[in-house]
Amino acid sequence: MATATGSSAGDETTRWKYLDHIRRTPGPFTDPDAVAEENLAQFDKFKVLVIGAGGLGCEILKNLAMSRFKDIHVIDMDTIDISNLNRQFLFRQSDVGSYKAEVAARFVERRVAGVRITAHNAAIQDFDEAFYRQFQLVICGLDSIEARRWINAMLVSIAEDAEDDPDGIKPLIDGGTEGFKGQARVIFPSMTSCIECQLDMHAPRAAVPLCTIASIPRQPEHCIEWAHVIAWDQEKPFPTLDKDDPTHVTWLYQKALARAQEYGIPGVTYSLTQGTIKNIIPAIASTNAIIAAACCNEAFKIASNSATCLGFENNYMMYSGNDSIYTYTFKHEKKDDCPVCGRQARPLEVDPASTLGDLIDSFAVRPEAQLKKPSIRAEGKTLYMQVPPSLEEQTRPNLKKTIAELGLENGQQVVVTDPAFPLEFNFFLRFKEKASA
Ligand SMILES: [Zn+2]
Repeated sequence: MATATGSSAGDETTRWKYLDHIRRTPGPFTDPDAVAEENLAQFDKFKVLVIGAGGLGCEILKNLAMSRFKDIHVIDMDTIDISNLNRQFLFRQSDVGSYKAEVAARFVERRVAGVRITAHNAAIQDFDEAFYRQFQLVICGLDSIEARRWINAMLVSIAEDAEDDPDGIKPLIDGGTEGFKGQARVIFPSMTSCIECQLDMHAPRAAVPLCTIASIPRQPEHCIEWAHVIAWDQEKPFPTLDKDDPTHVTWLYQKALARAQEYGIPGVTYSLTQGTIKNIIPAIASTNAIIAAACCNEAFKIASNSATCLGFENNYMMYSGNDSIYTYTFKHEKKDDCPVCGRQARPLEVDPASTLGDLIDSFAVRPEAQLKKPSIRAEGKTLYMQVPPSLEEQTRPNLKKTIAELGLENGQQVVVTDPAFPLEFNFFLRFKEKASA
């Protein structure tokens, strides 16, 4: 990086010397049909939307500005918490309580001359299609699957409405990190595998079976879960567990530690106890930096045509820093039965002897659905609706009935909706064969 010292922009020509060389000089990977001057003009007009101004977002905004993107918008509804300051480096102690998007935008604008960053202190759902249509590219640095699924559905619907208009295809670059692991992927909405096609890559973490926790712990987390779900219930040291109360966490920590010592398991600490019971995965600054760099590299390639971006062939780069450093890039195929970008209903495995309530509960943990508040209906029949309350009350008795008692048949189509998503999920029932003993 050239002269990024001090608060003044320094000598602008020097700062952009190497970057402009790449932008102006065709190389072996440059699209041969691209014209350098046209490319530069297109690059300078590129309007990019960044979603999230947290750990990944701070890195992404800085990288985009330093890659000479000039018109950037950023959406984040959160305010700055003191615990963000160790890695969200655009924020200072005096910013605690202010909006992340706003503070991040002003910081980068002060440091990089010529960039304009428009901050939106709001939720992505607050904006409509017209808003999203103004961008050429969207980059997500989010920690929520729901928000990713929402913007994905929005961009696919814009692409499908646009028919043959290539401007309707807004590439979506998605970065994500979890501890020392991360991924960067590029999606051409409606054309290549989308977030929803890839949902099973983010399966809800498998729960440890209770028997492991109760009888044969192997990991420090098993001991903590034992203290959390078994010892607490048996001994009831306090009336109700408050996971933010240090005396409660200390009690669990000491219980877990004693059990770990009994089984010779090292690694139970206070912070691991806190993390395990609150289901927190630590945010690692270096993982964010690596993933954000990979995402912005793709953005630069798309905007400059200087090299082939991820997308049509390989579209998914996974990174792991857990055990040395490992990356793997592959092609995730588009799914014909994807509820967002596909057209076909997908199978829904169900035991006809199980209840509708079981089926409703299962949507939260099925890797291909992951719906928290599903409502379900079949042709001509409302099976269960979460809202409005009157309909919920009316359909609630169905939860206790079995699939067979409700008259549902093998192969029957059902439609599932969830308030978090602006779309319908089409399934057909596939009855599980009776397990042969
Ligand atoms: Zn899809």
